[in-house]
Amino acid sequence: MDIKNTSHDSPPLEIYARQFSGKLLLRTEILLDENTFQQLLSLHLFTPVQSIKRKKFTYQCQRCGNQKRSLFATLPRTSGKKILHYCRNCIEMGRVIDSEPLYYWTGKPVKWLEHEAPCTWDGQLTAAQQRAADHIVNAVNNHQQELLIWAVCGAGKTEMLFPGMATALSAGKRICIATPRADVVRELMPRLQKAFQHVPVQGLYGGSKDRAGTAQIIIATTHQLLRYREAFDLLIIDEIDAFPFHADASLPFAANRAKAPQHTTIYLTATPRQEQRRQMVGNKLPHIFVPIRFHGHPLPVPTMKMSFSLKKELQKSEVPLALMKWLKNRKHQTRQLLIFVPTIQLADNMRDQLFVRFRKEGLIKSTNELAAVHAQDPDRTEKVQAFRKKDILIMITTTILERGVTFPSVDVVILDAGHEVFDEAALVQIAGRAGRSPDDPTGEVVFFHDGRTDAMVEAVDSIRLMNKRGGFH
Ligand SMILES: [Zn+2]
Repeated sequence: MDIKNTSHDSPPLEIYARQFSGKLLLRTEILLDENTFQQLLSLHLFTPVQSIKRKKFTYQCQRCGNQKRSLFATLPRTSGKKILHYCRNCIEMGRVIDSEPLYYWTGKPVKWLEHEAPCTWDGQLTAAQQRAADHIVNAVNNHQQELLIWAVCGAGKTEMLFPGMATALSAGKRICIATPRADVVRELMPRLQKAFQHVPVQGLYGGSKDRAGTAQIIIATTHQLLRYREAFDLLIIDEIDAFPFHADASLPFAANRAKAPQHTTIYLTATPRQEQRRQMVGNKLPHIFVPIRFHGHPLPVPTMKMSFSLKKELQKSEVPLALMKWLKNRKHQTRQLLIFVPTIQLADNMRDQLFVRFRKEGLIKSTNELAAVHAQDPDRTEKVQAFRKKDILIMITTTILERGVTFPSVDVVILDAGHEVFDEAALVQIAGRAGRSPDDPTGEVVFFHDGRTDAMVEAVDSIRLMNKRGGFH
């Protein structure tokens, strides 16, 4: 096949451009036969880059930015051949090895459609949402590089993005929403498809069906950004404070590279970290605060319940007395219940014990009404779906459901709220699962503990402060 001669049986370069532009890929990720690939390479439509840069004793993986010597490994040496190094840090996305370059598209860039009135959402923003939305629109129009939206849990931040996204799409820009969790990609996909019915939207996460990543709107887990280069004019980074974005340096590295030369980045958070707060206070990061939930009610303030016997009971996987006492006197017995526990093991153990106990007390009728879920659970997606459909009434969970997921009417408890996995941000996020619906805007939040921690006190203080800033006293 001769690519220069664009006869009608050879795919026009536009198709390749759409497939590959804005990406940084391993040869194995470029699904072209060797002949075609070599032609594109000789025409400089693909440009190779050294995948692992070496300077004396320092190494840097050019896909994930890893420079830790301990995160590089060598392949067993075959006789007479050079020792080959590969990056262990990003290996789950395919092996980056120093003998094989990465490639990016240097042919004609894609011309994305300029959509006229692309937003098909017919809802109404609240005044607080509109204010944030206006700032995002301005940022997009003025090519402002960065804007942070600090919006309380339940502020309706997805809808706030719509006007800014519409502005970007009508200017023929490409958008990516990057979020730390695959659950959130799955939850956002149908909402965005509905809000932008005529614009292609793709969701990317480990194991997603759609893998092409060629749409004008991409929703992706942050790890997927490792495959992009100068791709997005509008990059929206959700939950900027969350693990793993917060903990893994390769993700900011990849996010930075994924931005088009002229770009706008919007950061979203309900619980900014110290570093982001410092930047806001020092006016180093343009930001806007949205202190009110979209339904206009305050955030539920957690109650702390002290129980000396709590740890002992949990160690023996016994149902804590304090929990049973609270359950019997719960104000809204019909609400669904989320029970957060610190470890996977406890989630599984508590499930069996709670089932026996709850059944005896008449709190549930069948096994199906109670479930436990955690990150290693193969049925995780189905269980979350069943809870959403109210087939499951009580869900025991680890922190995987602490953020990004919305259930309309739940009470929330944490068993062992003093455990180190529950830092201030996690506690505020967990409390933020309650009272999300305008039909049931309250919801109880209870921290069961055997000694207050700073994180617990700070979480409650920060929720009170946000309510105060939202005009509630
Ligand atoms: Zn790497």
